[in-house]
Amino acid sequence: MRAMAVTAPGQPLEALELPDPVRGDGQALLRVRCCGVCRTDLHVADGELELPRLPIVPGHQIVAEVVESAGRFAPGDRVGVPWLGWTCGECRFCRSGRENLCDRARFTGLDLDGGYAELAVADERFCFPIPAAFPDLQAAPLLCAGLIGLRALRLAGEGERLGLYGFGASAHIVLQVARHRGWRVFAFTKAGDSDSQAFARELGAEWAGDALAPGPEELDAAIIFAPAGELVPAALRASAKGATVVCAGIHMSDIPSFPYEILWGERTVRSVANLTRADGEEFLALAPEVPVKTEVTPYPLARANDALDDLRAGRMRGAAVLVVDEREPPAPGRPAG
Ligand SMILES: [Zn+2]
Ligand SMILES: [Zn+2]
Repeated sequence: MRAMAVTAPGQPLEALELPDPVRGDGQALLRVRCCGVCRTDLHVADGELELPRLPIVPGHQIVAEVVESAGRFAPGDRVGVPWLGWTCGECRFCRSGRENLCDRARFTGLDLDGGYAELAVADERFCFPIPAAFPDLQAAPLLCAGLIGLRALRLAGEGERLGLYGFGASAHIVLQVARHRGWRVFAFTKAGDSDSQAFARELGAEWAGDALAPGPEELDAAIIFAPAGELVPAALRASAKGATVVCAGIHMSDIPSFPYEILWGERTVRSVANLTRADGEEFLALAPEVPVKTEVTPYPLARANDALDDLRAGRMRGAAVLVVDEREPPAPGRPAG
């Protein structure tokens, strides 16, 4: 099969011909239709996460067609494969409803080969049927940007005014869910990034502006998607007493020291890690209800490096998606099976 893989950290992905994957116990063999590009893929490619082996096929927002199933699906069913690829089911985190923190979790596109390839295998218990309302390309960003975004929004707590720091794939979905839940949304971007600011306003943000300066009103909660540690004290300074600041990325540059007074007043800083299957089920039921509209920029699989470069440079609106199966155009409204 054709794949784009990390072969050396910090280097561009390499086009490889790899042996077709073989389905193990409980796994489905999948023909990948498309795969969303996540900032985490950039951290994998750059070697900012510890890499368990090389080469690694990245990609954990896989929209695929089932070729062979272990029993849960029928051939031809459309499924999504997220970041959480396997958990032990035995550790204290798994046993307390926190499988996202499993000590032995295996992640798609890092520990397990992902969707930057024509074929993939995945544990069926961790795959999701995809709502029929979403064509393939529009569905892909739901599978990480969307469902981890929802987890971040839940951890942000209750309030009226939500700040989103970094306006990429995840923020453009979370904004829609947050508006649906009654939040007023303020978008914080790099100073002068008028494209992202305009995009946020189009989607319903009531204000968009410079991330390093406070907004027009104090925030009750903030979610930081950009991997920039200096945003943590910036978000605390922009926040009201009792606010929660959620760091939603898997990697962030060091957080600079800050005076205690900006944390005082029962402000909280926390991270959000991974997802549980319950998060995925909740989000995929909610997305058609909102309804979430994802804006995607498609790239052919062979141009995965361009997609990663554009993501790194912030040169895209919404989410990048790699189109892997180009035999036929995606069929809108295809039943999830
Ligand atoms: Zn992701
Ligand atoms: Zn576990």
